[in-house]
Amino acid sequence: MAILVTGGLGFIGSHTVIELLSSGYEVVIADNLSNSEISVLDKLKKLSNKTIAFYEIDVTDKDKLELIFLNHEIDGIIHFAGYKAVGESVVNPLSYYYNNLMSTISLAELASKYDVESFVFSSSATVYGDNVSPFKEDMPLLERTNPYGETKAMSERILSDYSKTEPTKKITLLRYFNPIGAHESGLIGEVPKGIPNNLMPYITQVASGKREKLFIFGNDYDTPDGTGVRDYIHVVDLARGHVAALKKAKQGINIYNLGTGIGVSVLELIHTFIEVNQVDIPYEIVERRPGDIAVSYADTSKAERELGFKTVKTVEDMVRDAWRFEKNLIK
Ligand code: NAD
Ligand code: UDP
Repeated sequence: MAILVTGGLGFIGSHTVIELLSSGYEVVIADNLSNSEISVLDKLKKLSNKTIAFYEIDVTDKDKLELIFLNHEIDGIIHFAGYKAVGESVVNPLSYYYNNLMSTISLAELASKYDVESFVFSSSATVYGDNVSPFKEDMPLLERTNPYGETKAMSERILSDYSKTEPTKKITLLRYFNPIGAHESGLIGEVPKGIPNNLMPYITQVASGKREKLFIFGNDYDTPDGTGVRDYIHVVDLARGHVAALKKAKQGINIYNLGTGIGVSVLELIHTFIEVNQVDIPYEIVERRPGDIAVSYADTSKAERELGFKTVKTVEDMVRDAWRFEKNLIK
């Protein structure tokens, strides 16, 4: 069973490749290295001790993408490739719409042409907008505040419409909550280019001395300590969720939250990081970040019931593994 993993050298994709290989799948990766390094491929081979076919291509380029379907018998696609920085999407909306939508459309066209049984798409909790947590898969989606979020909602719509035309195919939309952490080996993890947008990579860079202090975006939210609450999920748990989705999805459209169901505040995450890793994280409270919501966490019951998926890693595991990876980067 060969699975095409687009964006397979990126943060979530690389961890998913490891889980796929250890579950017996053959993996073909397509990545244009726009937000990853080729060195990750060697690390994946080293960690898995398996062969991995790799194509350095832009998945919006359907002609090049088609070569993969001609060269391999593709049974499933997991589509991670895309741009993901919210702020950048406000500055460059067209490149976000182009990259994130054209990649999805090209892949769906080829999935149809080559009769690919399963298609798993990386969506995001951002599609829920400012709903009341816990977010449930059947909630109406509320307005997104940025083009990135809109590309996720539009891709979901495109794939839902595609599913109606090919009802025997298994199409799965996975709405990730906040993936953090790294592989236990310390070999693969998240390597943001430039200033990190997300909380965890910012914390690890403050811990390693790359940045002076963390800025906490607001402490006047309606939450227990006033800081934003999110559902952080260990990236290895998240990766396992993809294998579960490939195995258990049914014909038609399948939508699942992948989170832990537990809300953790910014201050709680920082203090857990400090306690577990015994390093200091200086921080300053600043203004709220525009577009942020107060609370986001998942209702995980559907994924548990239908996919048999349950997270096993704790917040302590997440901060320990994230720090181990960062320390390896600075060695
Ligand atoms: P990432 O940037 O680490 O990985 C994306 C990979 O896709 C990179 O290796 C990049 O080089 C590649 N890529 C981008 N555009 C491409 C293209 N046109 N052709 C080929 N390769 C391309 O991101 P990630 O954190 O691993 O996220 C993976 C997916 O999950 C993305 O679609 C993202 O929007 C989604 N997601 C991420 C998060 C998060 O917090 N990390 C949350 C929700 C959803
Ligand atoms: N956050 C913060 N400082 C940072 C980055 C993020 O205080 O430098 C806060 C942010 O306001 C939110 C939480 O951390 O409450 C998670 O933010 P992140 O960008 O990681 O994820 P998202 O907002 O996409 O859920």
